[in-house]
Amino acid sequence: MEEDLIRKKVQLILGGDVRLPEGFRMPYRISRSTAGPGAGKRSAVFSFGGMRVKKGISYDPCEFMLVDGDGTLSLTRDGLPFIENVTIMPVVFHSPEQAFFNLDQRCRYNCRFCTSPLLKNDVTKYLTDEKIVDMIRDSMNEHDVISVALTSGVIGTAQETADRMISCVKAIRNAFPNIPIGVEPYVDSEGQIKALKDAGADEMKINLETPRTDIFEKVCPELDHTTILEMLRMSVKIFGRGKVTSNLIFGIGENDGDLEGCMDMLASFGCVATLRAIRVNDMNRENMRSVGIIPDVTEDRMIRLAHMQKRIFEKHGLTTLTFKTMCFECGCCDLVPFRDL
Ligand code: SF4
Ligand code: SF4
Repeated sequence: MEEDLIRKKVQLILGGDVRLPEGFRMPYRISRSTAGPGAGKRSAVFSFGGMRVKKGISYDPCEFMLVDGDGTLSLTRDGLPFIENVTIMPVVFHSPEQAFFNLDQRCRYNCRFCTSPLLKNDVTKYLTDEKIVDMIRDSMNEHDVISVALTSGVIGTAQETADRMISCVKAIRNAFPNIPIGVEPYVDSEGQIKALKDAGADEMKINLETPRTDIFEKVCPELDHTTILEMLRMSVKIFGRGKVTSNLIFGIGENDGDLEGCMDMLASFGCVATLRAIRVNDMNRENMRSVGIIPDVTEDRMIRLAHMQKRIFEKHGLTTLTFKTMCFECGCCDLVPFRDL
C-alpha cells in the first residue's frame, strides 16, 4: 500500500468524526457498537484504496466531511480535499463482513480505558443464543458474512461468563458448520479454553493490554497480567500458532522497546499481537487521568510500530492472514500488517 494512503488511514483513525452532507441517506443500516474504540457511537465504515476505517458520523461540523459528487463519494479534511473514491461498506454486526456480537456490555472489572460498561443503553440484554443464530441467518440474506465473533464483559464469575460464550459458540457451530468463529473471552482456566475450542471456536483473543506490569496495575487493577499471559500460552497449544491474538494498547506510558520486546515474546510462542492506539473520549478521559495516564499517540509512531510489528511477525513466520475473525480481519481500527502494509 502507498505510504500516502497508509498515513491517511492513520489520520482518519486518530482524527475526529465524519460529517455527512445535509440530507444524505446512508446506503446501509448505521452501526452502533458496544465494544471497541467506537463503543457507544453511531458509526459507518468508509473504504478506500483497499483499506477501511470505522468512523463516528454526524450532521454537525467535524474534522472530516463526506462529499457526494453525484454518487461518487470523497472525503475532505478541514475543508481541503483528503481522499477520493470512498465507498461506504455495509456493517453486518459491528464489523463489515463479520457478525461480531458483544454478549454482555456490562463488566465487573473497571479497566480505565474501557467504555463498554459505561454505556447507558443495555443493548446486549436480549441476546440469547437462538436470537444470535437468527440474526446471523438473517444477515446472510442481506450481506456477505465471512465469519462470526463473540466478545463479552464479565458478569458473575469468569466461569459463568465463559459458559455463556461456550453455549453460544455451540449454537452457532450447529447452525453454521463451516463458518470461522473467533472468541474474545475473559478466561482463567485451561478447561475454559478447551471448552471453547471443543464448542467450535477457531480463533482466540485474550487481551494482555500492555507490555508493562506497572502500567497494567494502573489501567486494569482488578486483572492479573501473569494469568493472562499463561492463558495465551495455553491457547496457542490448544488453538495453534497463528490462531491466537492479544490486544496491546499503545500510548499509555510504554515505549517502543516495551512493545517490541512483548510482541517478540508473544510471537516466540505463536501469538500474533494486535496493536491498538489508545482512544480517549468523554467516557474514559477522567478514568485515565485519575491514574495518571496521559495518552500519547502520534501518526509517526503508529506507522513506525505497525512496521515493527510486521518485522517481528516475519521473523517468527507469523502473519495476520491466518485470522478470519475479529480485528485483523476487520481492519477498521488499526494499521494491519500484511493487509494494509
Ligand atoms: S475486562 Fe476490562 S477491558 Fe474487558 S470488558 Fe471488562 S472492563 Fe472492559
Ligand atoms: S477493528 Fe476490531 S474493534 Fe475495530 S470495528 Fe473492527 S472488530 Fe471492532
